[in-house]
Amino acid sequence: MAITDSHNTQPTNGTQSKLVASAPDAVPEPAQISPALLHRSLHQQPYKVTSAKGLYLTLSDGRVVMDACGGAAVACLGHGNEEVLAAVTAQMSTGVSYLHSLTYTTDVAEDLAHHIIDGPHGAGRYGLERAYFVNSGSEAMDAALKLARQYFFEKGEPRRTRFVSRKQSYHGTTVGAMNVSSNLPRKVPYANFQSENFSWVTPAYAYQYSNWEAGETEAEFAERLVEELDLHIRTLGPGSVIAFIAEPLVGATSGCTPAPKGYFRGVRDVCDKHGVLLILDEVMCGMGRTGTLFAFEQEDIVPDIMTMGKGLGGGYSPVAGVLVHKKIVDVLRKGTSSFNHGHTYQAHPVGCAATLAVQRILRREGLVENVARLGRWLYPFLLETFGSAKYVGDIRGRGLFWGIEFVGDKVTRAPFPPAVGFGVRYQATCFELGVAVYPGSGTVDGKKGDHAILSPPYNVSEVELRRIVEVMKKAYDRMEEEVDRELAGREDVNGLTRAY
Ligand SMILES: *Cc1c(COP(=O)(O)O)cnc(C)c1O
Repeated sequence: MAITDSHNTQPTNGTQSKLVASAPDAVPEPAQISPALLHRSLHQQPYKVTSAKGLYLTLSDGRVVMDACGGAAVACLGHGNEEVLAAVTAQMSTGVSYLHSLTYTTDVAEDLAHHIIDGPHGAGRYGLERAYFVNSGSEAMDAALKLARQYFFEKGEPRRTRFVSRKQSYHGTTVGAMNVSSNLPRKVPYANFQSENFSWVTPAYAYQYSNWEAGETEAEFAERLVEELDLHIRTLGPGSVIAFIAEPLVGATSGCTPAPKGYFRGVRDVCDKHGVLLILDEVMCGMGRTGTLFAFEQEDIVPDIMTMGKGLGGGYSPVAGVLVHKKIVDVLRKGTSSFNHGHTYQAHPVGCAATLAVQRILRREGLVENVARLGRWLYPFLLETFGSAKYVGDIRGRGLFWGIEFVGDKVTRAPFPPAVGFGVRYQATCFELGVAVYPGSGTVDGKKGDHAILSPPYNVSEVELRRIVEVMKKAYDRMEEEVDRELAGREDVNGLTRAY
């Protein structure tokens, strides 16, 4: 089973490598191949990075690459920040690198929670009054699911056992988080791990899922989706659903897709009507990535539980977190007074020190505001650069989180046949030209569709951004030419299926 997904393959080397005119030095020497480390692919070796600073990665072959995606929208401060290094060193110098959280706590963990909850920027303004720190977005999602279940258990509604999320979404890789997700390529071998407690509704993905051909407006699309959710919950049975789970902007699965205006307001109302909790997964789109610290701040609603991850620690430590609304904490307080869930490394002192340093820098330097400012400039620039490109169907996102969706036919919005491998090849071409973007395939339905994500650090300059977009356009032009050549003489894009 071929799985061509950014999560499971070596995107930079490309699964369609036979089709890519890759530079000879992209092929690693046998001596570099480590037989001991299990990479994502058994037959492709990722590039080795020997140093990194700010926006730039230096590879072992001496090449320098602009990291325009921060891995998977992780490196929000860029690489090699000295202040974060100093904070980590200072914490380790106290001798306190690890403590068991049942018995001990640290200033860095307490201060990090205060930093995120308190004050004029804090989540406390929205009633989110406690933070729980774990080590990955998947762990954060699992914690959120279990906390939501415990809430109803203690509230005396133990018959609530179901979770509803959306098709074309990703919530993590552990068995619990995978159950919520519907990113199909990432679930192929585990079909029988799927619990019946999970189900999915239509994604809020207007470009491919609205009835645009019939002239459906943004508001009508939002309303239709909200009605579907309402019906879905009623069909499952009132009192059987624990929570609805959604990414405010869908990240890796469909490429920075915001919901139509009014959608989340409607979702919040449906959840409230049925007593269902709303869990927002901000692992990828949160912590400033879209121009506000929390992505939900642009949606006129507040979640009951939210998760954060990638941009929280900016890659300086494996850290993620859960923010919990007072409504949940109050029920636990009256009940068992504890969250029946724990990790050895929860609120890890060194991780919290790195994360607190990252978050303090973001606030002190006004970097979230910078994301909003740059985003307002970047969108028109992307439109100007790519808007008339033959295979660019949609450009969407917010702040410094932009997805470009590639289609085989702009008029019908039909994606390329998967065999073309447009997204993965596009990423490989950008990389050859010195810019790392995050690739995506299966954009439309888990099988078909291609996109690339641009998610640079929050402190990127306008000059650097301009350079990145220019290289991305050059890579696109090269891809267009290549694909046109492959398509030559064929009347419809579906002919491509036979061409490969
Ligand atoms: C990356 C991601 C996760 C999982 O986070 P990990 O740190 O990889 O476990 C969960 N939800 C979303 C939206 C993500 O993008």
